[in-house]
Amino acid sequence: DDRLQRISSSIRVIPNFPKPGIMFQDITTLLLDHKAFRDTIDILVERYKDKNITVVAGVEARGFIFGPPIALGIGAKFVPLRKPKKLPGEVISEEYSLEYGTDRMEMHVGAVQPGDRALVVDDLIATGGTLCAALKLLERVGAEVFECACIIELPELKDIVLESGILLQGSSDLT
Ligand code: 5GP
Repeated sequence: DDRLQRISSSIRVIPNFPKPGIMFQDITTLLLDHKAFRDTIDILVERYKDKNITVVAGVEARGFIFGPPIALGIGAKFVPLRKPKKLPGEVISEEYSLEYGTDRMEMHVGAVQPGDRALVVDDLIATGGTLCAALKLLERVGAEVFECACIIELPELKDIVLESGILLQGSSDLT
């Protein structure tokens, strides 16, 4: 797909952010290139349309940028998965491990129903811990998770088996 090269080169890498030794993949430069941004959304809409997906769940914060246009493009509702204490209504939450310590992801009760078919969207997968927490939240309320979609997959993590036992196929669809 000749759109992938443009998308890939529109993503800026910032060394030593937010900590020394980390090569931060900065998707804000992808957003500055409206053609690359549109191509990113188009590729994902092409992949997920006609798959009977009823909900796109976006992971805070960058899943809130890519998730909504995909939801509109495939005709699904959008549900934000947020950091603790951001959502005003009743929530269910899932704790997950970070490099140091833990974090929690929250979702509004009632936003996703049993039988919903979900697509989870985030910008990047590293260890997969964040996506696993999203998956568990959605499955706890009775949804079926069809797939998780990310823009960037860190190359050293191809074909890993996530802690939940999902095989993450090294498809590198976008990068
Ligand atoms: P994981 O839970 O898979 O280890 O980490 C993925 C999460 O960390 C995602 O929510 C992603 O937004 C964030 N993240 C980690 N490293 C980077 C990075 O280099 N660039 C961006 N944009 N996000 C990152």
